[in-house]
Order: sequence, then structure tokens, then C-alpha cells
Amino acid sequence: MSRVNTVLGPIPTEELGLVAVHEHIGYGMPGSELDTKWWKSPEQRYEETVPKLRQFHEYGGGTFVDATGICNGRDVDYYKSLSAKTGVHIVASTGFVGGDTALPFFARASVEYLAEHFIHEITVGIGNTGSRAGIIKVGVSRGGRMTDLDKRIYRAAARAALTTGVPILTHLAIDAETAIAVFEEEGLPLDRVLFGHVDDGVNAEKTRDTWIAEQGGRVGFDTFGYETELPDPPFWARPRKERLDHFLRFIRQHLDKALASADANCSPLGWPGVQGHTVNYIFEDLIPDLRAAGLDEATIKTIFVDNPADFLAIQN
Ligand SMILES: [Zn+2]
Repeated sequence: MSRVNTVLGPIPTEELGLVAVHEHIGYGMPGSELDTKWWKSPEQRYEETVPKLRQFHEYGGGTFVDATGICNGRDVDYYKSLSAKTGVHIVASTGFVGGDTALPFFARASVEYLAEHFIHEITVGIGNTGSRAGIIKVGVSRGGRMTDLDKRIYRAAARAALTTGVPILTHLAIDAETAIAVFEEEGLPLDRVLFGHVDDGVNAEKTRDTWIAEQGGRVGFDTFGYETELPDPPFWARPRKERLDHFLRFIRQHLDKALASADANCSPLGWPGVQGHTVNYIFEDLIPDLRAAGLDEATIKTIFVDNPADFLAIQN
């Protein structure tokens, strides 16, 4: 039986249910924890987060993948408590959002060190929480090209994925040729990699989503809901219909490679976040939009249940 590591322990893949595959419990830039002006009390963080997760669960959400990584506010004891209180399975990530969010200690580390660290967090646990990471986060630094550090992190992630059977999730899928070259050099099958953020307003034009799928990679339309129709849209927003049409075009060819999520932030750390956007966009807007576009329930299940289960299942 295949399994997935959640913060409360490994569970059978069949128990994941509907998966939000790229989300954040709380995301902030590294070092924001040193700026004492914004600090929220634990009560505030629970107050912002618990209702969103409860609502997710009530809508039929099963699993929330926290794509936050090591230096951006990951807090596993807090995730365990949230999961126990709300009934939502939470998958925590090892790895980094990008080379540019890895703090100097990690930025100066060797590939071997990074790989060992990821493997430890996946097989032994994250600190002394007893929780094992269920996914490895990597990403492309700002600027559009993979930096040397990004490449070292991707290489370490590939080795950890091969050793542990846990998959990789990327922040951005630009410069995918470089990423795929690293994965191929390491011998990692590309169906163990979800290339994320192919749909955001800044990068969609520069991202070769169908090419990635043709190489065997999985493709994440995972910034659903960051749309120009919001009252105060972020710079990566995109018109709602344009993103939806892009997704519908993609799944006509590559449904088996498609995953979708909202990349929302339950309780932002050190920044205001984006008002009016939560993980529940998946239920309140996206799934209704997909039904209105003519998708049947089996197709919706493929996108939110079967494809994520296939991707997240630990390979032995
Ligand atoms: Zn994210």
C-alpha cells in the first residue's frame, strides 16, 4: 500500500481525498521573524487559520500541502495542532522556495549536505517534531534564470527524491530546460516532479507547460484566484477567464499531468497577504468554473484526487 507523510504521520494514499497541492499555512520572507513590529500572537494566527481549514474540510477538502519550505516560516508543531483540530491532513515540505530564500547557512552548503538534510527531514523527521516531510520544495530565484544555488538545490532534491521516494514541487517552471537537465543527470523520472506556477500573470507566457508535460513532468496551475478582479491584486495576478481558458486548453491534451491549487496564505508572516484570497477558492470558484465549462465529475476527480495521490505517493 502506498503512503504519504503528513505532519501527524504517514497515511494511505487513498485517505488523502481532495488535495490542495500547493498552499501555505503561513508564508513570509526569511528574516521577517526578526522584524518584531508585525508579530502576531499565537491566538491571532489560529484565529486567521482555523476557520479557513475548517471550511476547507466542510467543503470536502482532505489534504493541504504546505509548500512553505525551510526558511519561509514553516512551523511543524503548529501544523500538527491545526491538523488535529480541523481534521485536514497537512503535508509539510523540506527544501526551499528558491535559492534566493535559502538563508546563508544553507546557501553556502554543499549538494551532499543539502541532500542529506532533506533525506533526514523525510525519513527521520523535522527537528524533534516527529513529523516527516512529505514533499521537497525547490524553486527558481527571481530573475528568470536558475542560479548556481538553485541548481545545487535541485540536484540535492533529486538525490533525496530518489533515495526516499518523496516527490519534488517547484516554485516557477521557467528555465525548465535547465531544471530537467539536472533531473536527467541525476536519473530522476520526471513524473516525480510537479513544475508549479505555470499559470501566474508574470510567468505564464514564458513557461513551456505543454513541453514540460511532453517530457513527462507534471504541471501545476497553482495560482488560481490571484486574479486582476481582486480589489487589490498582486503583481502576479491574471484575468480570471484568461487563466481558466489556459487551464482548459492544457487539460484537453494533458489531463494526466495536470494539478491545480490556489497558493493562498492562511496567515501571512510579515506582509499583508492578498485580501480576499484563500485556499477555499478551489471550492467556491474554481470547481464551479470547471463545471460551468463542461467538465464532468470524473475529470474533476482526476485533477484534485487521483493525480495528486499518484504524485504524492512515496515510491519504494
Ligand atoms: Zn507557494
